[in-house]
Amino acid sequence: MQLTKFLIGTAVALATVTSPVAAKKKDKDEASAPKSKFNKDPYPSTYQPYASVPTAVTNVIVYDGEGAKFQNATVYFRDGKVEGIETGGALKDGYTVIDGTGKWVTPGIIDIHSHLGDYPSPGVDAHSDGNEATGAVRPEVWAEHSVWPQDPGFSRALANGGVTALQILPGSANLFGGRSVTIKNVYARNVQGMKFPGAPYGLKMACGENPKRVYGSKGQMPQTRMGNMAVNRQTWARAAEYKRKLDKGDTVTRDLAMETLAGVLSGEILVHNHCYRADEMSLVIDMAKEFGYKVSTFHHAVESYKIADLLAKEGICSAMWADWWGFKMESYDAINENIPMVFKANACTIVHSDDANGIQRLNQEAAKAAGDGRRMGIEVPDEVVWTWLSYNPAKALGIGDKTGSLKPGKMADIVLWNGNPLSVYTRPDKVWIDGALMYDAANPKMRPVADFELGQPGEGDVK
Ligand SMILES: [Zn+2]
Repeated sequence: MQLTKFLIGTAVALATVTSPVAAKKKDKDEASAPKSKFNKDPYPSTYQPYASVPTAVTNVIVYDGEGAKFQNATVYFRDGKVEGIETGGALKDGYTVIDGTGKWVTPGIIDIHSHLGDYPSPGVDAHSDGNEATGAVRPEVWAEHSVWPQDPGFSRALANGGVTALQILPGSANLFGGRSVTIKNVYARNVQGMKFPGAPYGLKMACGENPKRVYGSKGQMPQTRMGNMAVNRQTWARAAEYKRKLDKGDTVTRDLAMETLAGVLSGEILVHNHCYRADEMSLVIDMAKEFGYKVSTFHHAVESYKIADLLAKEGICSAMWADWWGFKMESYDAINENIPMVFKANACTIVHSDDANGIQRLNQEAAKAAGDGRRMGIEVPDEVVWTWLSYNPAKALGIGDKTGSLKPGKMADIVLWNGNPLSVYTRPDKVWIDGALMYDAANPKMRPVADFELGQPGEGDVK
C-alpha cells in the first residue's frame, strides 16, 4: 500500500523543565524570585525560509491588504521581505522580472481557522487527531502535537487557495479545547519546521451545543448552557489561583492545563472562541471581564450582526463564513449579510474556512459576502474586502506586524492571481512565502507534493 518515507530527524527540542525542588524560604529573597521556572517555548519554531531571489512583479493591480489599491504597479521584494509598491518610474536593476499584465497581486491569504494536519484530507479515522474529547476541560493539549506535516491538504490550500499562513486549532468538542498553533504553509519534516516564528499561542474555547452534546450525552457535565458557563467559570477561578501563586513565586506542582490558562490571563496566549449565538457571545464577553482576559476572535459567529456594535466597542474580531449555516439549531439564525454588517459596524471582520475544501476558495467566500453586502446597500471596495482575508486575520493572530499586508519590511508572503482575485474564474498563478517561490502554475515542478503522496495516483493534484 502506501509507503511513507518521511524523515523524523531534526531535534525536537526537549523541554528543559526546571522543577521547583526546594520549598521556598520565607525571606526577603522572595521578591526577586522568577515568575515561572518553566520553559515557555519547549517546542520552538525551526522554520527556515526557502531560498529566494530579488523579484519585481510588474504591470499588476495590487491590493495591499490594508485597504489600498494600486494600478499598473510594480511590487518589489528581496531577501524575503517586501521592499515596496511603485507606480511609474523606471524598473530598478537587479531583480528577476515577472510581467503581470492583466493580473493582480495581493498578500497571501491567512486562514485563522483550520484543522489541516489534525484532521488531514483526505481523512481517515487513524488520522482523526483534532478533538481530545475525554473531558470538557482540556487546555493542556496542544494542536501542534497532532499536526501531521504530510497532510496533502496543505499543498491544495497553497496551490488552489493562495494560503500562505494558517492557524491550526483543536476541535470544538470541549469548552477548553487546547492550544492552537500558527504555521507557515510549507512542508517540513516536523511541525516545528512549519511554525510561524514569533507567533503567540492561541487557546481554543467553544460555547453552545457541541460541549453540552458531547458530555451531556454521556451523562456528564456540562449538559446545558448553564453547565457550560459553570464549568468555564470554575476553571477560570482555578487558573486565577494558579497564576496568583506563580506571580508570588510560590512553589507549584506543574499543571499544563493551568499553565495555558495562566498564559491567557497574563495576555501571552490569545483566546479563539467558537461561538454561534449573539447572546452567548455577550455572556462570554462578561465572563472574560470577570476573570480579566480578552477574547481575540469569535469563530463562526453567525449572529455577530446582532451585536456588531458591542464587538466593535470591545475590539473583538469575528471570523465568519459567507453562507454556511442551518446545520444545527445554533447556526440557524444566520444571514448572508452577516460579514458586511459586521464590517459596517466598524468591527474587525475576518473570513475563515474551518474546512479542507473551503480553505481552497476563501477568496470566493469573501466575494460572496461582498456581493451580499452590495445587494443590501453596503458597498465595500474590493481592495478593502481583501483586509478580511489577510491583514485582519494576521492582527487577530498577533502577527499583523510581520505579515498580512504589503508594507515595506514585512514578510514577502505574496500571491499573483491570474485575474481578479474576487472572481470564481481566478486561480493563483504564483505564490511566494518569505519571498521564495513556492507554487508556479506554469511549472509542474513547482507544484508541492507531500512526501506521503509521492508515487501515488493524483500526487500533488492541481484542479
Ligand atoms: Zn473548527
